[in-house]
Amino acid sequence: MHRYEGARAAVVGGSIGGLTSALLLRELGFAVDVFERTPEQLDHRGGGIVLQPITMRWFDGRSARRIDELSTHSSRLRYLGTGDGIVHEEPASWRYTSWGTVYRALLGDFGRDRYHLGEHCGGFQQHAETVELRFVSGRTERADLVVFADGIGSTARRRLFPDLQRTYAGYVGWRGTVREDALSPRTHALLADALTYSVGDRTHCVLYTIPGMDGELAQGRRLLNYVWYRNVAAGPPLQELTTDVRGVECPVTVAPGAVQRRYVDELKAAAAAELAPAAAEAVVRTERPYVQVVCDVRVPAMADGRVAIIGDAAFAARPHAAAGSAKAADDAWALYEHLGAAGGDIPAALRSWQPAQLALGNQLLDRVAAMGTRSQVTNTWEPGDPDLRFGLRGPGR
Ligand SMILES: Cc1cc2nc3c(=O)[nH]c(=O)nc-3n(C[C@H](O)[C@H](O)[C@H](O)COP(=O)(O)OP(=O)(O)OC[C@H]3O[C@@H](n4cnc5c(N)ncnc54)[C@H](O)[C@@H]3O)c2cc1C
Repeated sequence: MHRYEGARAAVVGGSIGGLTSALLLRELGFAVDVFERTPEQLDHRGGGIVLQPITMRWFDGRSARRIDELSTHSSRLRYLGTGDGIVHEEPASWRYTSWGTVYRALLGDFGRDRYHLGEHCGGFQQHAETVELRFVSGRTERADLVVFADGIGSTARRRLFPDLQRTYAGYVGWRGTVREDALSPRTHALLADALTYSVGDRTHCVLYTIPGMDGELAQGRRLLNYVWYRNVAAGPPLQELTTDVRGVECPVTVAPGAVQRRYVDELKAAAAAELAPAAAEAVVRTERPYVQVVCDVRVPAMADGRVAIIGDAAFAARPHAAAGSAKAADDAWALYEHLGAAGGDIPAALRSWQPAQLALGNQLLDRVAAMGTRSQVTNTWEPGDPDLRFGLRGPGR
């Protein structure tokens, strides 16, 4: 592996993709700084993540933390029907974590000294040997390599491809978590050891158990996490739903506590009519459900000189394969391997890294779009169909 001692890398975006990248670049000898726009530490974002091996590869030997102490496990795949009847069940081993649990663990390994909060990158410029980054705070930085891991609204993507738009999928994910001990014993028993689906007419809800808000793994203190996909017409209906309680339009996420009350009330009323009773109970008992707009984004290129774009900044995939964080981590690991093999020529490493990651992103987007169509449009989401299983590179992989 080539060592980049004396070289500097900057990572824009301090979430899972950004922190994984930062840790790996530091392993190659770069002096690495991470710039995250959010002013406060992000560890209370609570959403669930279904683990793919690549998401947790950092914890497989390079960290003092172990995967099993950062995640929950279930052993069954189960589809519930009317009256909670089991319409399909098979053995299936999956691990789950929460965004906050992985974030805290990655940040613990990276350290706070070079993790800069409240730094929103507004633009950049490439020079012959460096990249200059400009922040809205007035700060400027120069680096030999810049990795943009700045998510679905990426500054780099908008600068490099100004005409590229994200495409609304036609539905949103309603998300929420409930503490296990707030569920009835019957519902807890039914959902605790399974990846559970409740499928309705052009809709489906997926539920699984994740660590508690502070990473707790004890039964009762863990959280039941769900995503319920519901069709919402583009235009005024979507615009109104994504206008938060302050009257501000939120095109990507309407945060917990910020969704208008009447939409939360409608969600809870619809749950009883459209979902299996156990899934409906989870939705009804959620204090602050929130909305994520499901979109497709794909870039024509991920490398430009000394700039790399990874994760959701490059490809935002519908969540049906549970592979978004895995794609971000895969981009970071592949970049690490190409830089290590490139003998110190950063632009050449980025050029050789790009083709396989572009192909992976395009394949993932095509596959999850087809999954979304089966659920939300054609109503052909069949319990147990292997094509509908999770995986970054195809079902189970
Ligand atoms: C409903 C739903 C369910 C999902 N479920 C799963 C799942 O089960 N498993 C899974 O693997 N994935 C899942 N995902 C996808 C996953 O959340 C994303 O793919 C993943 O978070 C992408 O990581 P990232 O690091 O690329 O970007 P992000 O997590 O979006 O992070 C981007 C970071 O950059 C920061 N930032 C943005 N702009 C700037 C700027 N200009 N300057 C500085 N900082 C900036 C942001 O504040 C943020 O911290 C799901 C997504 C949705 C919508």
